[in-house]
Amino acid sequence: MSKGRFGKFGGQYVPETLMPALAELEQAYADARADTEFHREFQELLKKFVGRPTPLYFAKRLTEVCGGAKIYFKREDLAHTGAHKINNALGQGLLAKRMNKTRIVAETGAGQHGVATAATCAMLGLGCVVYMGTDDIARQQPNVFRMKLLGAEVREVNAGSRTLKDAINEALRDWVTNVRTTHYLLGSALGPHPYPTMVREFQSVIGREAKQQILDAEGKMPTTLIACVGGGSNSIGLFDAFRDDEVEFIGVEAGGHGIESGKHAARFAERGVGVLHGTYTYLLQSEDGQVRETHSISAGLDYPAVGPEHAEFFETERAGYTYATDEEALDAFQKISHYEGIIPALESAHAVAEVLKRAPEMKRDEIVIVNLSGRGDKDLQTVMKEISDL
Ligand SMILES: *Cc1c(COP(=O)(O)O)cnc(C)c1O
Repeated sequence: MSKGRFGKFGGQYVPETLMPALAELEQAYADARADTEFHREFQELLKKFVGRPTPLYFAKRLTEVCGGAKIYFKREDLAHTGAHKINNALGQGLLAKRMNKTRIVAETGAGQHGVATAATCAMLGLGCVVYMGTDDIARQQPNVFRMKLLGAEVREVNAGSRTLKDAINEALRDWVTNVRTTHYLLGSALGPHPYPTMVREFQSVIGREAKQQILDAEGKMPTTLIACVGGGSNSIGLFDAFRDDEVEFIGVEAGGHGIESGKHAARFAERGVGVLHGTYTYLLQSEDGQVRETHSISAGLDYPAVGPEHAEFFETERAGYTYATDEEALDAFQKISHYEGIIPALESAHAVAEVLKRAPEMKRDEIVIVNLSGRGDKDLQTVMKEISDL
């Protein structure tokens, strides 16, 4: 199998100018991975800066309402800065320091990765520039302000669909130009090798903790794991520790206004493959092969490609993929707020929507773990516009 491949997916489809940077990163990551001091520092900061381990919480009322499987939430919403993104930002931030880089560039969609990166850079004393699409800046104002407070420069990207895809283009351009001083801190399990593997490994703490926690709580393995899939990092982070176990994996993509409308980000519902941002994977494209504009109520799921390991999981049927529409996500958002006292990120609400469909059909001795990838504070502005009758 060639380097950085997941079956036939993944790889390094980048211009020659980017190859030395990727080679340097690959080597530095391999060295760090083998260094116990790197792991010690990472674990220490996961504990004291991020606040890990995050709890595995039994959703008693939602379980009663659904009347089927026991529902547990992995509470990544309680991680520092409000989502799982910080696990990866911290790992790569420490790696950048090892590489003697003084400046970080990052892209952000929902703003969560930008905030996690800005916080990490502040803590480690690194410069930070975050690229963000004009549309995302408009719908994620509180996070834009947070990034600035944390000392980052937020650069607006007013090109293409003015969302995450275009922000990644700009961050890659910046990296190529300034590679001597700069590390590109990519926020999900996508892009060229080594990113999909490296990001998965930094996020795999989610599943390692969840496995121990469910064994402590229930004395047995879960039946099903459910997570939303944007680029695919919180889901692969939850799934990884269970990959050799008899546990079902379900990824939930953004169904937007519905598949027929064309306005969605459900890559596996349309089944086109191609290359975007250096990786070969499932990709939403027009009939003549152009990358399509996507739509989701949640900025963090609004991306036309999916991480290459998910493409392999899809083809080998290791995981099943489905979607929740904007409307279903909004409904789930309100239900978990109401029944559990937890306001989730709109991204995570897609995963909750799926458990609301699935749990009632399951047996009472079965267990589902849903990854609550983030908290909903950042989405209140969006949700207030959508819900008028509380
Ligand atoms: C960014 C984000 C996502 C989507 O990204 P993945 O890489 O697929 O995890 C999901 N939930 C939240 C809260 C996010 O911030």
